[in-house]
Amino acid sequence: MAFVRTRCPCSEVIHTPPSFHEFYLAFDGRGWQTARVPSEETRLQVVFGHLHEGVLVEDGTRHVKFANKAFTDIFVPGLDPELMVGGDCDEAAIQTSVMFKHPQEWLTATRAIVAGQISISNDEWETADGRWLQRDYLPRVKEDEVFEHIWLYRDVTRQHVHPDPVGVDSFSSERTGLRDWASAIKRLGDRAESLAIITQGAMVFVKVLDVDQLNSEFGYDGGDRLITSVLEELRGEFGEANVERLKGTVFGILTTETDPTLLIERTRKVLDPTRPVGDHFVSLHTQIGIATTLTVDDFASGRDMFESARLAVRQSKVRHSDVVLDVAMRSYARVRTELTSRIDEILADNQFCLHYQPIVNMEDQRVLGFEALVRWVHPVRGVIPAFEFITAAEETGVIAKIDRWVIREACRQASLLLTEPGQTVAVNVSQKTSLAQHDYIGAVKSALAEFAIDPAQVVIEVTETSIAQDQAAFHELISALRGIGIKISIDDFGVGSSTLAILKDIPFDRLKLDRSFTADISEPRAQELIRVGVAIGEIFGSQVIAEGVETQEHMELLLDCGVQVGQGWHLGMPQPL
Ligand code: C2E
Ligand code: MG
Ligand code: MG
Repeated sequence: MAFVRTRCPCSEVIHTPPSFHEFYLAFDGRGWQTARVPSEETRLQVVFGHLHEGVLVEDGTRHVKFANKAFTDIFVPGLDPELMVGGDCDEAAIQTSVMFKHPQEWLTATRAIVAGQISISNDEWETADGRWLQRDYLPRVKEDEVFEHIWLYRDVTRQHVHPDPVGVDSFSSERTGLRDWASAIKRLGDRAESLAIITQGAMVFVKVLDVDQLNSEFGYDGGDRLITSVLEELRGEFGEANVERLKGTVFGILTTETDPTLLIERTRKVLDPTRPVGDHFVSLHTQIGIATTLTVDDFASGRDMFESARLAVRQSKVRHSDVVLDVAMRSYARVRTELTSRIDEILADNQFCLHYQPIVNMEDQRVLGFEALVRWVHPVRGVIPAFEFITAAEETGVIAKIDRWVIREACRQASLLLTEPGQTVAVNVSQKTSLAQHDYIGAVKSALAEFAIDPAQVVIEVTETSIAQDQAAFHELISALRGIGIKISIDDFGVGSSTLAILKDIPFDRLKLDRSFTADISEPRAQELIRVGVAIGEIFGSQVIAEGVETQEHMELLLDCGVQVGQGWHLGMPQPL
């Protein structure tokens, strides 16, 4: 029996249109039948288990209800899909985001899709290793509540590597003004910044027809001519330098106009008239997405604006209507403003929490300790990982408050966390915190005293880059902490600029090799560098820890290079206590 995702092709067998439950049909050799499913789990297994597409079903609270093998094959090859059941999907998305070329954008889009509660299809993303994944999203709603989120994922790399001969790329780029996406982002973003459009203005994305439709109806030359005429007319209306062709049939416009109604009117006035293409006359079906500065704070960037406009035009496709987004919706600007203006409230409201990731002896799998990683459990946006807000916290200086909270929380939880003798808990400290060092050392001492923690159980991680930026302040901080009996770990070692000079002057106990070394470990040069790291560790009598151990292969190669201790997804995910 084969299971297929299709509408019933044979109306004699099923007379009423299938509900979503019955949307997935079984063909048993005699005809099309609705799959009869005894229980919820088997229903999902029967319906989705055999699909070639990766399927993830989340329950209403965003925990995994079901994943099929095709899904884990895409995201974590070799993982038994059943092990995913019950997992927190937002947390998994945070972890997964790093496999995408633009992790933050992928994560933000994923959250926006879930929050928007409208189905989407063919949403495409490039992974960091050069694959293209396409996804559909289907929320299932009962009494205005989403009780199931369904994601379908497929690998469409081939279509990108060998584009359809008559496709987007076939439009002659010289004549039709197509530039590559990355440089378009940069140019439009930069120009939006230089013209101060990010503080007052709008970026409009217009999608004109579908590329496929264009190609099949008008052929190569006709499509080319249409694209060129649209570009020229938009430039006529908004100014030569303010309009770019971005991708396929998508155009980007910059304007100082902020009124969305007026903008939509102007755009439609240019694009609506029926126009001749070869022997035909066409009316354009345009989708308009606008990122405007309705309530923008002064932290938005050109890139924020570009991403908002992109999100807006995507949503307009799904909603079948024009979409206007306020640039201030973009997460970075929001996070920064919210963190700075509400830090005391956020702390008082207990919105931060710590996740702990094990640090493991890879020879015998013993857990030697944990690194505490801060998360912001935002009441509206859900769990926000460190990489999304630490930079903002550092730029605005509120990091010092966060770091003081972190050391206290880690000490508070240490007695429950550290169950084996000799285990340690490591916390990160920012360069900005080190500048207010007396506060920090005071916070460390009182946390140790309050929860009766042995200082030998605590490790402070400082990055090599931040030490390099402020050696004197760090030297003092580190000496004071070591004086109390706390261990010092150099984080992300090997990517800063003045590596060896720092080690000469700053006393330390552990060296964490940056995860880029592990990522490249199949290359002989990276292996050589890792061996150098091990040798440096030996010289200074400090433990060497490899970061980013994501696979069994990583672990084996690291052991071959002489690294015994590691941290990474293969050895354990960061998790709440
Ligand atoms: P870090 O100290 O180097 O922490 C390791 C980061 O790598 C964590 O990201 C962790 O989730 C991620 N990671 C762990 N295993 C793997 C793996 O196998 N592969 C990959 N690709 N990534 C892995 P996270 O939690 O987002 O933290 C990012 C950075 O934010 C940290 O880098 C640290 O510099 C900073 N940070 C985190 N918590 C705090 C804090 O409490 N205070 C300060 N000042 N900085 C913090
Ligand atoms: Mg760290
Ligand atoms: Mg690190």
